[in-house]
Amino acid sequence: MDNQKEHLDYLFRSLQHHPSPYLIYELDGSLKWSNLAARYIFRMDNLKDLSIKNIDQESIANGVNKDPIAQSYETPIEIQLRDITFFIRTRVHLIPIEKSEGFFLIEILCPSREGLEALKQTISCIEFDRIDLAYQKQVDLNTGEITGIEALLRMRDEKGEVIPNDQLIPQIEGESLFSLVVLASLTKLSEFLEAKNSLGLEKATIYLNVSAHTVMHPEFCNVFLDYVDRMNLKPNEFGLEVTETAELSNTETAAKSLKTLKEKGIKIALDDFGAGYSSLRYLKDLPVDVVKLDKLFTSGVDDPTTGRLISFVIEVCKALNLEMIGEGIENEEQKKAMMDIGCKIGQGFLMHKPEFLETFKTKINSDD
Ligand code: C2E
Ligand code: MG
Ligand code: MG
Repeated sequence: MDNQKEHLDYLFRSLQHHPSPYLIYELDGSLKWSNLAARYIFRMDNLKDLSIKNIDQESIANGVNKDPIAQSYETPIEIQLRDITFFIRTRVHLIPIEKSEGFFLIEILCPSREGLEALKQTISCIEFDRIDLAYQKQVDLNTGEITGIEALLRMRDEKGEVIPNDQLIPQIEGESLFSLVVLASLTKLSEFLEAKNSLGLEKATIYLNVSAHTVMHPEFCNVFLDYVDRMNLKPNEFGLEVTETAELSNTETAAKSLKTLKEKGIKIALDDFGAGYSSLRYLKDLPVDVVKLDKLFTSGVDDPTTGRLISFVIEVCKALNLEMIGEGIENEEQKKAMMDIGCKIGQGFLMHKPEFLETFKTKINSDD
């Protein structure tokens, strides 16, 4: 026993300042120890703040039978952190100390320091209800009529400052934790949907952004189907903008989910078309209703090659009977050039800058 204690003390000392978060857990379910990085990420004052709800016992059993030195395996584990429960990617190490069966050293896996910081920020945004949405109009460029509204995620830090989406979302959208952000944004979106008709937006589609990771999530489809039922939404009242910061790993699964959603009356928009991974292949394989041309094209509309590429996308959309929205229209010149090429619907700071619900309501009422 003394020998074991000595070894564990040594392990604790050597991992205490390690930059990766480490936990030591006993198979009875209790957490025995955590290093400084873990306490920082999970904002733990007390070991009781965190418990492990689910760990892949089969891998443990298989691991135990193998070479007793340096056994480890990667597995997602379900943790309960105070009032929230989520899965996290880990590497579980079986501690090679005599008579120490039943102790596991868990390393939280994260590709970078920024990733860990983003995990910490996201956890506190969820716990302290610092997840909100801003809304931006999509308009008919000829008539000014509002055809749609895009809901944009706004997460705030401890000081109340909005954390730029480009800084946070790519770091966390692949983590299971992100599904809690999606659920929180749906709750926020309900407030907008409840006010929608009284704001004269009966005909507008309200779009939420979903990443490729969310589309691939097994619960993804049900969450949105339930939401449409719960909110009693009519066909075309709600839409999803599939954001292409990560490639859809299995287009067939994604197409199946999206088809089910489309059949329910949810509009499917392909976001940032022409940039990143968003490609013609998705137009072929996914049941898309709307193509959102990336703002990179709009900003280069006066360049002849870019102009021709925009015309090409407009032609493709016409031929496939898809709507097209030009993103990122910032000035009158761009608006005119886009309209001249044949773009009918646009979105951008020129027409409207994203606003939180309260401001959105006040301004839209004063416009009347
Ligand atoms: P996006 O879906 O393409 O959203 C449009 C972004 O362009 C927004 O930035 C918007 O504020 C900005 N924008 C709109 N008009 C203009 C313009 O005229 N000029 C310029 N320069 N920018 C304009 P935001 O809100 O920072 O969002 C960035 C990205 O974060 C989004 O790009 C989307 O990919 C992602 N995102 C936003 N909300 C969510 C969400 O709820 N879930 C997920 N998974 N991703 C989201
Ligand atoms: Mg979008
Ligand atoms: Mg976009």
